[in-house]
Amino acid sequence: MTDHSSDALTALTSLAGPDALIEGDDRTPLLEEWRGRWPGEASLVLAPGSTEELSSIMRYCHAHDLAVVPQGGNTGLVGGQVPQGEVLISTRRINRIRDISPEDFTLTAEAGVTLEAVQDAAREAGRLFPLSIGSEGSCNIGGVLSTNAGGVNVIRYGNARDLVLGIEAVLPDGRIWNGLNRLRKNNTGYDLKHLFIGGEGTLGIITAAVLKLYPRPAETQTAFLAVPSPAAAVDLLSLVQEKSGGAVTSFELMNANLLELVLAHFPDLPRPVETRSPFYVLTELSAGRQGVLAELTEDILSGAMERKIVSDGTIAQSEGQAYTLWALRHNASEAMKKDAAQCVKCDISVPIREVPSFLEKAGNAVTAEAPGARIIAFGHMGDGNIHYDILAPDGASPFGVKKGARLEHLVHEVVVAHDGSISAEHGIGLLKRDELKTRKSDVEMEMMRAIKTVLDSKGLMNPGKLL
Ligand SMILES: Cc1cc2nc3c(=O)[nH]c(=O)nc-3n(C[C@H](O)[C@H](O)[C@H](O)COP(=O)(O)OP(=O)(O)OC[C@H]3O[C@@H](n4cnc5c(N)ncnc54)[C@H](O)[C@@H]3O)c2cc1C
Repeated sequence: MTDHSSDALTALTSLAGPDALIEGDDRTPLLEEWRGRWPGEASLVLAPGSTEELSSIMRYCHAHDLAVVPQGGNTGLVGGQVPQGEVLISTRRINRIRDISPEDFTLTAEAGVTLEAVQDAAREAGRLFPLSIGSEGSCNIGGVLSTNAGGVNVIRYGNARDLVLGIEAVLPDGRIWNGLNRLRKNNTGYDLKHLFIGGEGTLGIITAAVLKLYPRPAETQTAFLAVPSPAAAVDLLSLVQEKSGGAVTSFELMNANLLELVLAHFPDLPRPVETRSPFYVLTELSAGRQGVLAELTEDILSGAMERKIVSDGTIAQSEGQAYTLWALRHNASEAMKKDAAQCVKCDISVPIREVPSFLEKAGNAVTAEAPGARIIAFGHMGDGNIHYDILAPDGASPFGVKKGARLEHLVHEVVVAHDGSISAEHGIGLLKRDELKTRKSDVEMEMMRAIKTVLDSKGLMNPGKLL
């Protein structure tokens, strides 16, 4: 530890209280990235217990030119939460649910509350907080908002940005902004919360948020379907949306490579349909009334089979069966981690009708560059988001850095040609920072840099991430 950081340690400990200092082995999990991709290093690790304590820390850091990195649940996939020598500020102790109002359909949670705890609190109040992602047991509301997380219910409820009415944040100079708006209508100028949502901790630290709640569905119906092609999946999505009157809450696509990988790593999970197919769809419908979905789903499915856009299917007959079908999707990241941690990973989105063309053209580009490469394509097709991962051919060693970058570039070129985005839901962080400036217009980059300069004139907030 340098003299500088030992002075800082003394000053910050007295400002934030001894409980805020994280030392020794307790630091390790906060410095390790989920996939072990970026090693973390921090001059200090602090976990303040309140917005006010965090404000004092930030005031001190600002006065002494100490750069800070905010961290929530440390589940981010683009390296945004990984410190590279800065002061790491974990929000995990700022973790109260401040208010639930079933009448207003709102819940006010502090940044360190896990997404799962928010879902549970909403459920206990007879309400639904619909955001759902694979890491929900660990990720925190502050991280979820800062990455504008997506997940499996975006098609019906939108992403994190759509589920927030107001936020409270500590600015880089330590000032507290109380923007905890609970109103659905409030047209009073720039909506500043949106700068922090998706801001990846580069403009300030979110400490609390007012979240939107929804009525709980009375009934859900989950189906796992074999589809002959991505084009059939697009047709199926339109059919299910039309026939159900927009009752689709999730519409997930996975290719055969992914299903086989999950089944291989989770042998307790049964094969969901007997027919082998190049693609599968996991879809969920929900309704506010009991007893409407079973017949409707059967009707839709038989119509889809007649049109040959579905070749086989299973409709869950119980909550347990629905859980098992969802386990195939939820364990995708874990299966990939076990088998293919070193693959090339792309998190992209294109307009829904472009998904088939994207998959075909990206597949052609990848196999021309790397014959025999194995492609794992899956994700939230209902909102055009495909996780597109590329593994080296069977038995070959993983792609090197240069080859991996080349393959990613080829996929991103196809994405851009289809009016898509190189980051659908995981964000930019360290991973895509350099590419961002080549993909956005000069005007857009200038506006982003101007905003950063105004709010963080010293460039101390999560430096080197996003911009
Ligand atoms: C198994 C698995 C499945 C996943 N599935 C999905 C998915 O379906 N959809 C999806 O969108 N993502 C998914 N993710 C990615 C990740 O879980 C999300 O990005 C999540 O929102 C990150 O939350 P976190 O609390 O872990 O944030 P962290 O990883 O701690 O931080 C992420 C970013 O937010 C910043 N940050 C954190 N807290 C704050 C704060 N209070 N104020 C300001 N900035 C802050 C950090 O500096 C960093 O830039 C998945 C990850 C895993 C491991």
